[in-house]
Amino acid sequence: MKFKLGVSACVIGEKVRFDRGHKRSSFVCRELSEFAEFVPVCPEVAIGLPVPRPTIRLLDHDNEIRLVDTKDNDIDHTQKMITFSETKATHLSEQELCGYVVCAKSPTCGMERVKVYRENGYVAAEKIGVGLYTKALMEKMPWLPIEEDGRLNDPVLKENFVFRAFALRDLYDAMADGITKRAIIEFHSRYKLVLMAHCPKEYRALGQFVARVADHDIKEFFFEYRTRLMQALAFRASRKNNTNVLMHLQGYFKRSLDKKQKAELAELILAYRKGEMPLLVPLTLINHHLTMHPDAYIAKQKYLKPYPDSLRLRYGL
Ligand code: SF4
Repeated sequence: MKFKLGVSACVIGEKVRFDRGHKRSSFVCRELSEFAEFVPVCPEVAIGLPVPRPTIRLLDHDNEIRLVDTKDNDIDHTQKMITFSETKATHLSEQELCGYVVCAKSPTCGMERVKVYRENGYVAAEKIGVGLYTKALMEKMPWLPIEEDGRLNDPVLKENFVFRAFALRDLYDAMADGITKRAIIEFHSRYKLVLMAHCPKEYRALGQFVARVADHDIKEFFFEYRTRLMQALAFRASRKNNTNVLMHLQGYFKRSLDKKQKAELAELILAYRKGEMPLLVPLTLINHHLTMHPDAYIAKQKYLKPYPDSLRLRYGL
């Protein structure tokens, strides 16, 4: 099943930018399109701005961020944009959206480091701006993986974003027949190694939280669990944490592998830890051993197969 992916409309090639141009991302359009159903939004067009249109920017007006025309601070789109963004974010929060790719640097869609100007026309260096629309998305859906088009050129950020989108789809699928304690416990048990790799602290804390699921209202529990899980997965899985998980997996084969096989696996894990090999190499061997010596608990771990291999996202890790 495809996951729903919100996108800045210009990122999938729609000519909606101020200059009638677009910012088509080939990764999004070519590689993700097989797995994602796009939900394109151009907030500036949605509030009635024409194409082409005068450029707009973020302005620090008495410590209040305004969205104004670049050449005339009195042409102010702030309230219209806030109203649209809050309404749209509320609507999208009910749509099982699994991720959002926004266009960098835009005063509307930028996720971070958007320029904020002073009344005198200079850039306020100390201000780190966020586009007004994306700010509303982040506030309404703190669990949602959001990434900028340009940052997806970084293999680590790309892998992390795509993985989180698949994980969120998986969470919604796991609850498709209703949110139950059993469904949450089963889902969580599949993500234990993933959590161990991404955030050992939340791995322990979420484990305790899930163990007490019976003490909570199930819907409230789900909302908190979803946010905590997705925020934990946003941490990069470090080489050190991945090594710990690989060694943990190695332990499952201590009775089934012979001396030579154990030494070979240990050598690959060590080579990965030293940065001499990508994560994929020891993982491939572990998956091979798992075929020969099946283990129900390990086989269901998302860590071993977090998304389709055809995306080839683990090559750069
Ligand atoms: S960055 Fe956002 S507001 Fe600007 S053209 Fe793209 S979708 Fe529209």
